[in-house]
Amino acid sequence: MTDPDVIVIGSGGGGAVIAKELGEKGLQVLVLEAGPWYGNSQWPDPNKNRGAQNSSKSDDLNIFLFKEQYTKDEGEMNDLITGRLRWGPADRNRSPWFRNVTRRGFVWQNSGVGGTTQSYLANSPRAFPVTVDHVWPISYRELIPYYEKVEATLPVEFAPMTSKEELFFYGAKKAGWQLIPTLDVTVPGYRPQPNAILPPNKNLTRPDYSVEQLSWMQGCTLAGHCIN
Ligand SMILES: Cc1cc2nc3c(=O)[nH]c(=O)nc-3n(C[C@H](O)[C@H](O)[C@H](O)COP(=O)(O)OP(=O)(O)OC[C@H]3O[C@@H](n4cnc5c(N)ncnc54)[C@H](O)[C@@H]3O)c2cc1C
Repeated sequence: MTDPDVIVIGSGGGGAVIAKELGEKGLQVLVLEAGPWYGNSQWPDPNKNRGAQNSSKSDDLNIFLFKEQYTKDEGEMNDLITGRLRWGPADRNRSPWFRNVTRRGFVWQNSGVGGTTQSYLANSPRAFPVTVDHVWPISYRELIPYYEKVEATLPVEFAPMTSKEELFFYGAKKAGWQLIPTLDVTVPGYRPQPNAILPPNKNLTRPDYSVEQLSWMQGCTLAGHCIN
């Protein structure tokens, strides 16, 4: 590509989505990403070798390579210096990016195609109308079709209940609050967490399936670097 209409820097949830949407409208979009691209045949070992400079063919995407590089080993993925999800350039001979934190706290952000988006907890609530209306230049009602598109794409579903939530619901109901059964929250109440992680795979507790087999099935396997 010699003369892009738009250059997007960083291909996390924000950059990658805007590049896709603009590309589908016929614009030439160039995405620049400093982090490694796991699961792309053009970068078979992105943390060691330079690999290619660009990729624009979906044929480059390789799920077998991705599963090899994205392992269930917490240390391999989460180590702040060497882990695949660390914050810094693809080349592991170069140091992680240093973050200045002025207040007490822990910044967990990472580099790589998908950046922080790779490790987020997938909690996907909508903003309350009161925080949008007359605050943003767009109303909550106008936002609804965009929310619905995102929720259908991810997809967003209510997270499975555990006994902890059940106890909370019991208390909330006793206190006179109502259950809100939809993603659209316009009145006070309580509800399960809207989440973009698929519900746990139903075969998880079956001993006849190996972890490898489960990893190829649809649904959360509760394995590896799942921090919630
Ligand atoms: C632990 C954790 C849990 C979270 N949980 C939730 C949640 O449950 N729900 C929720 O809504 N949000 C959550 N968030 C927040 C959410 O993940 C982020 O707001 C979102 O992923 C940011 O997307 P982004 O595209 O803006 O940035 P990123 O996904 O970080 O993408 C930025 C990209 O830019 C690249 N980049 C940086 N500098 C350069 C450069 N100079 N040149 C080229 N490329 C560059 C990076 O490598 C990266 O790939 C969580 C965040 C964290 C850290």
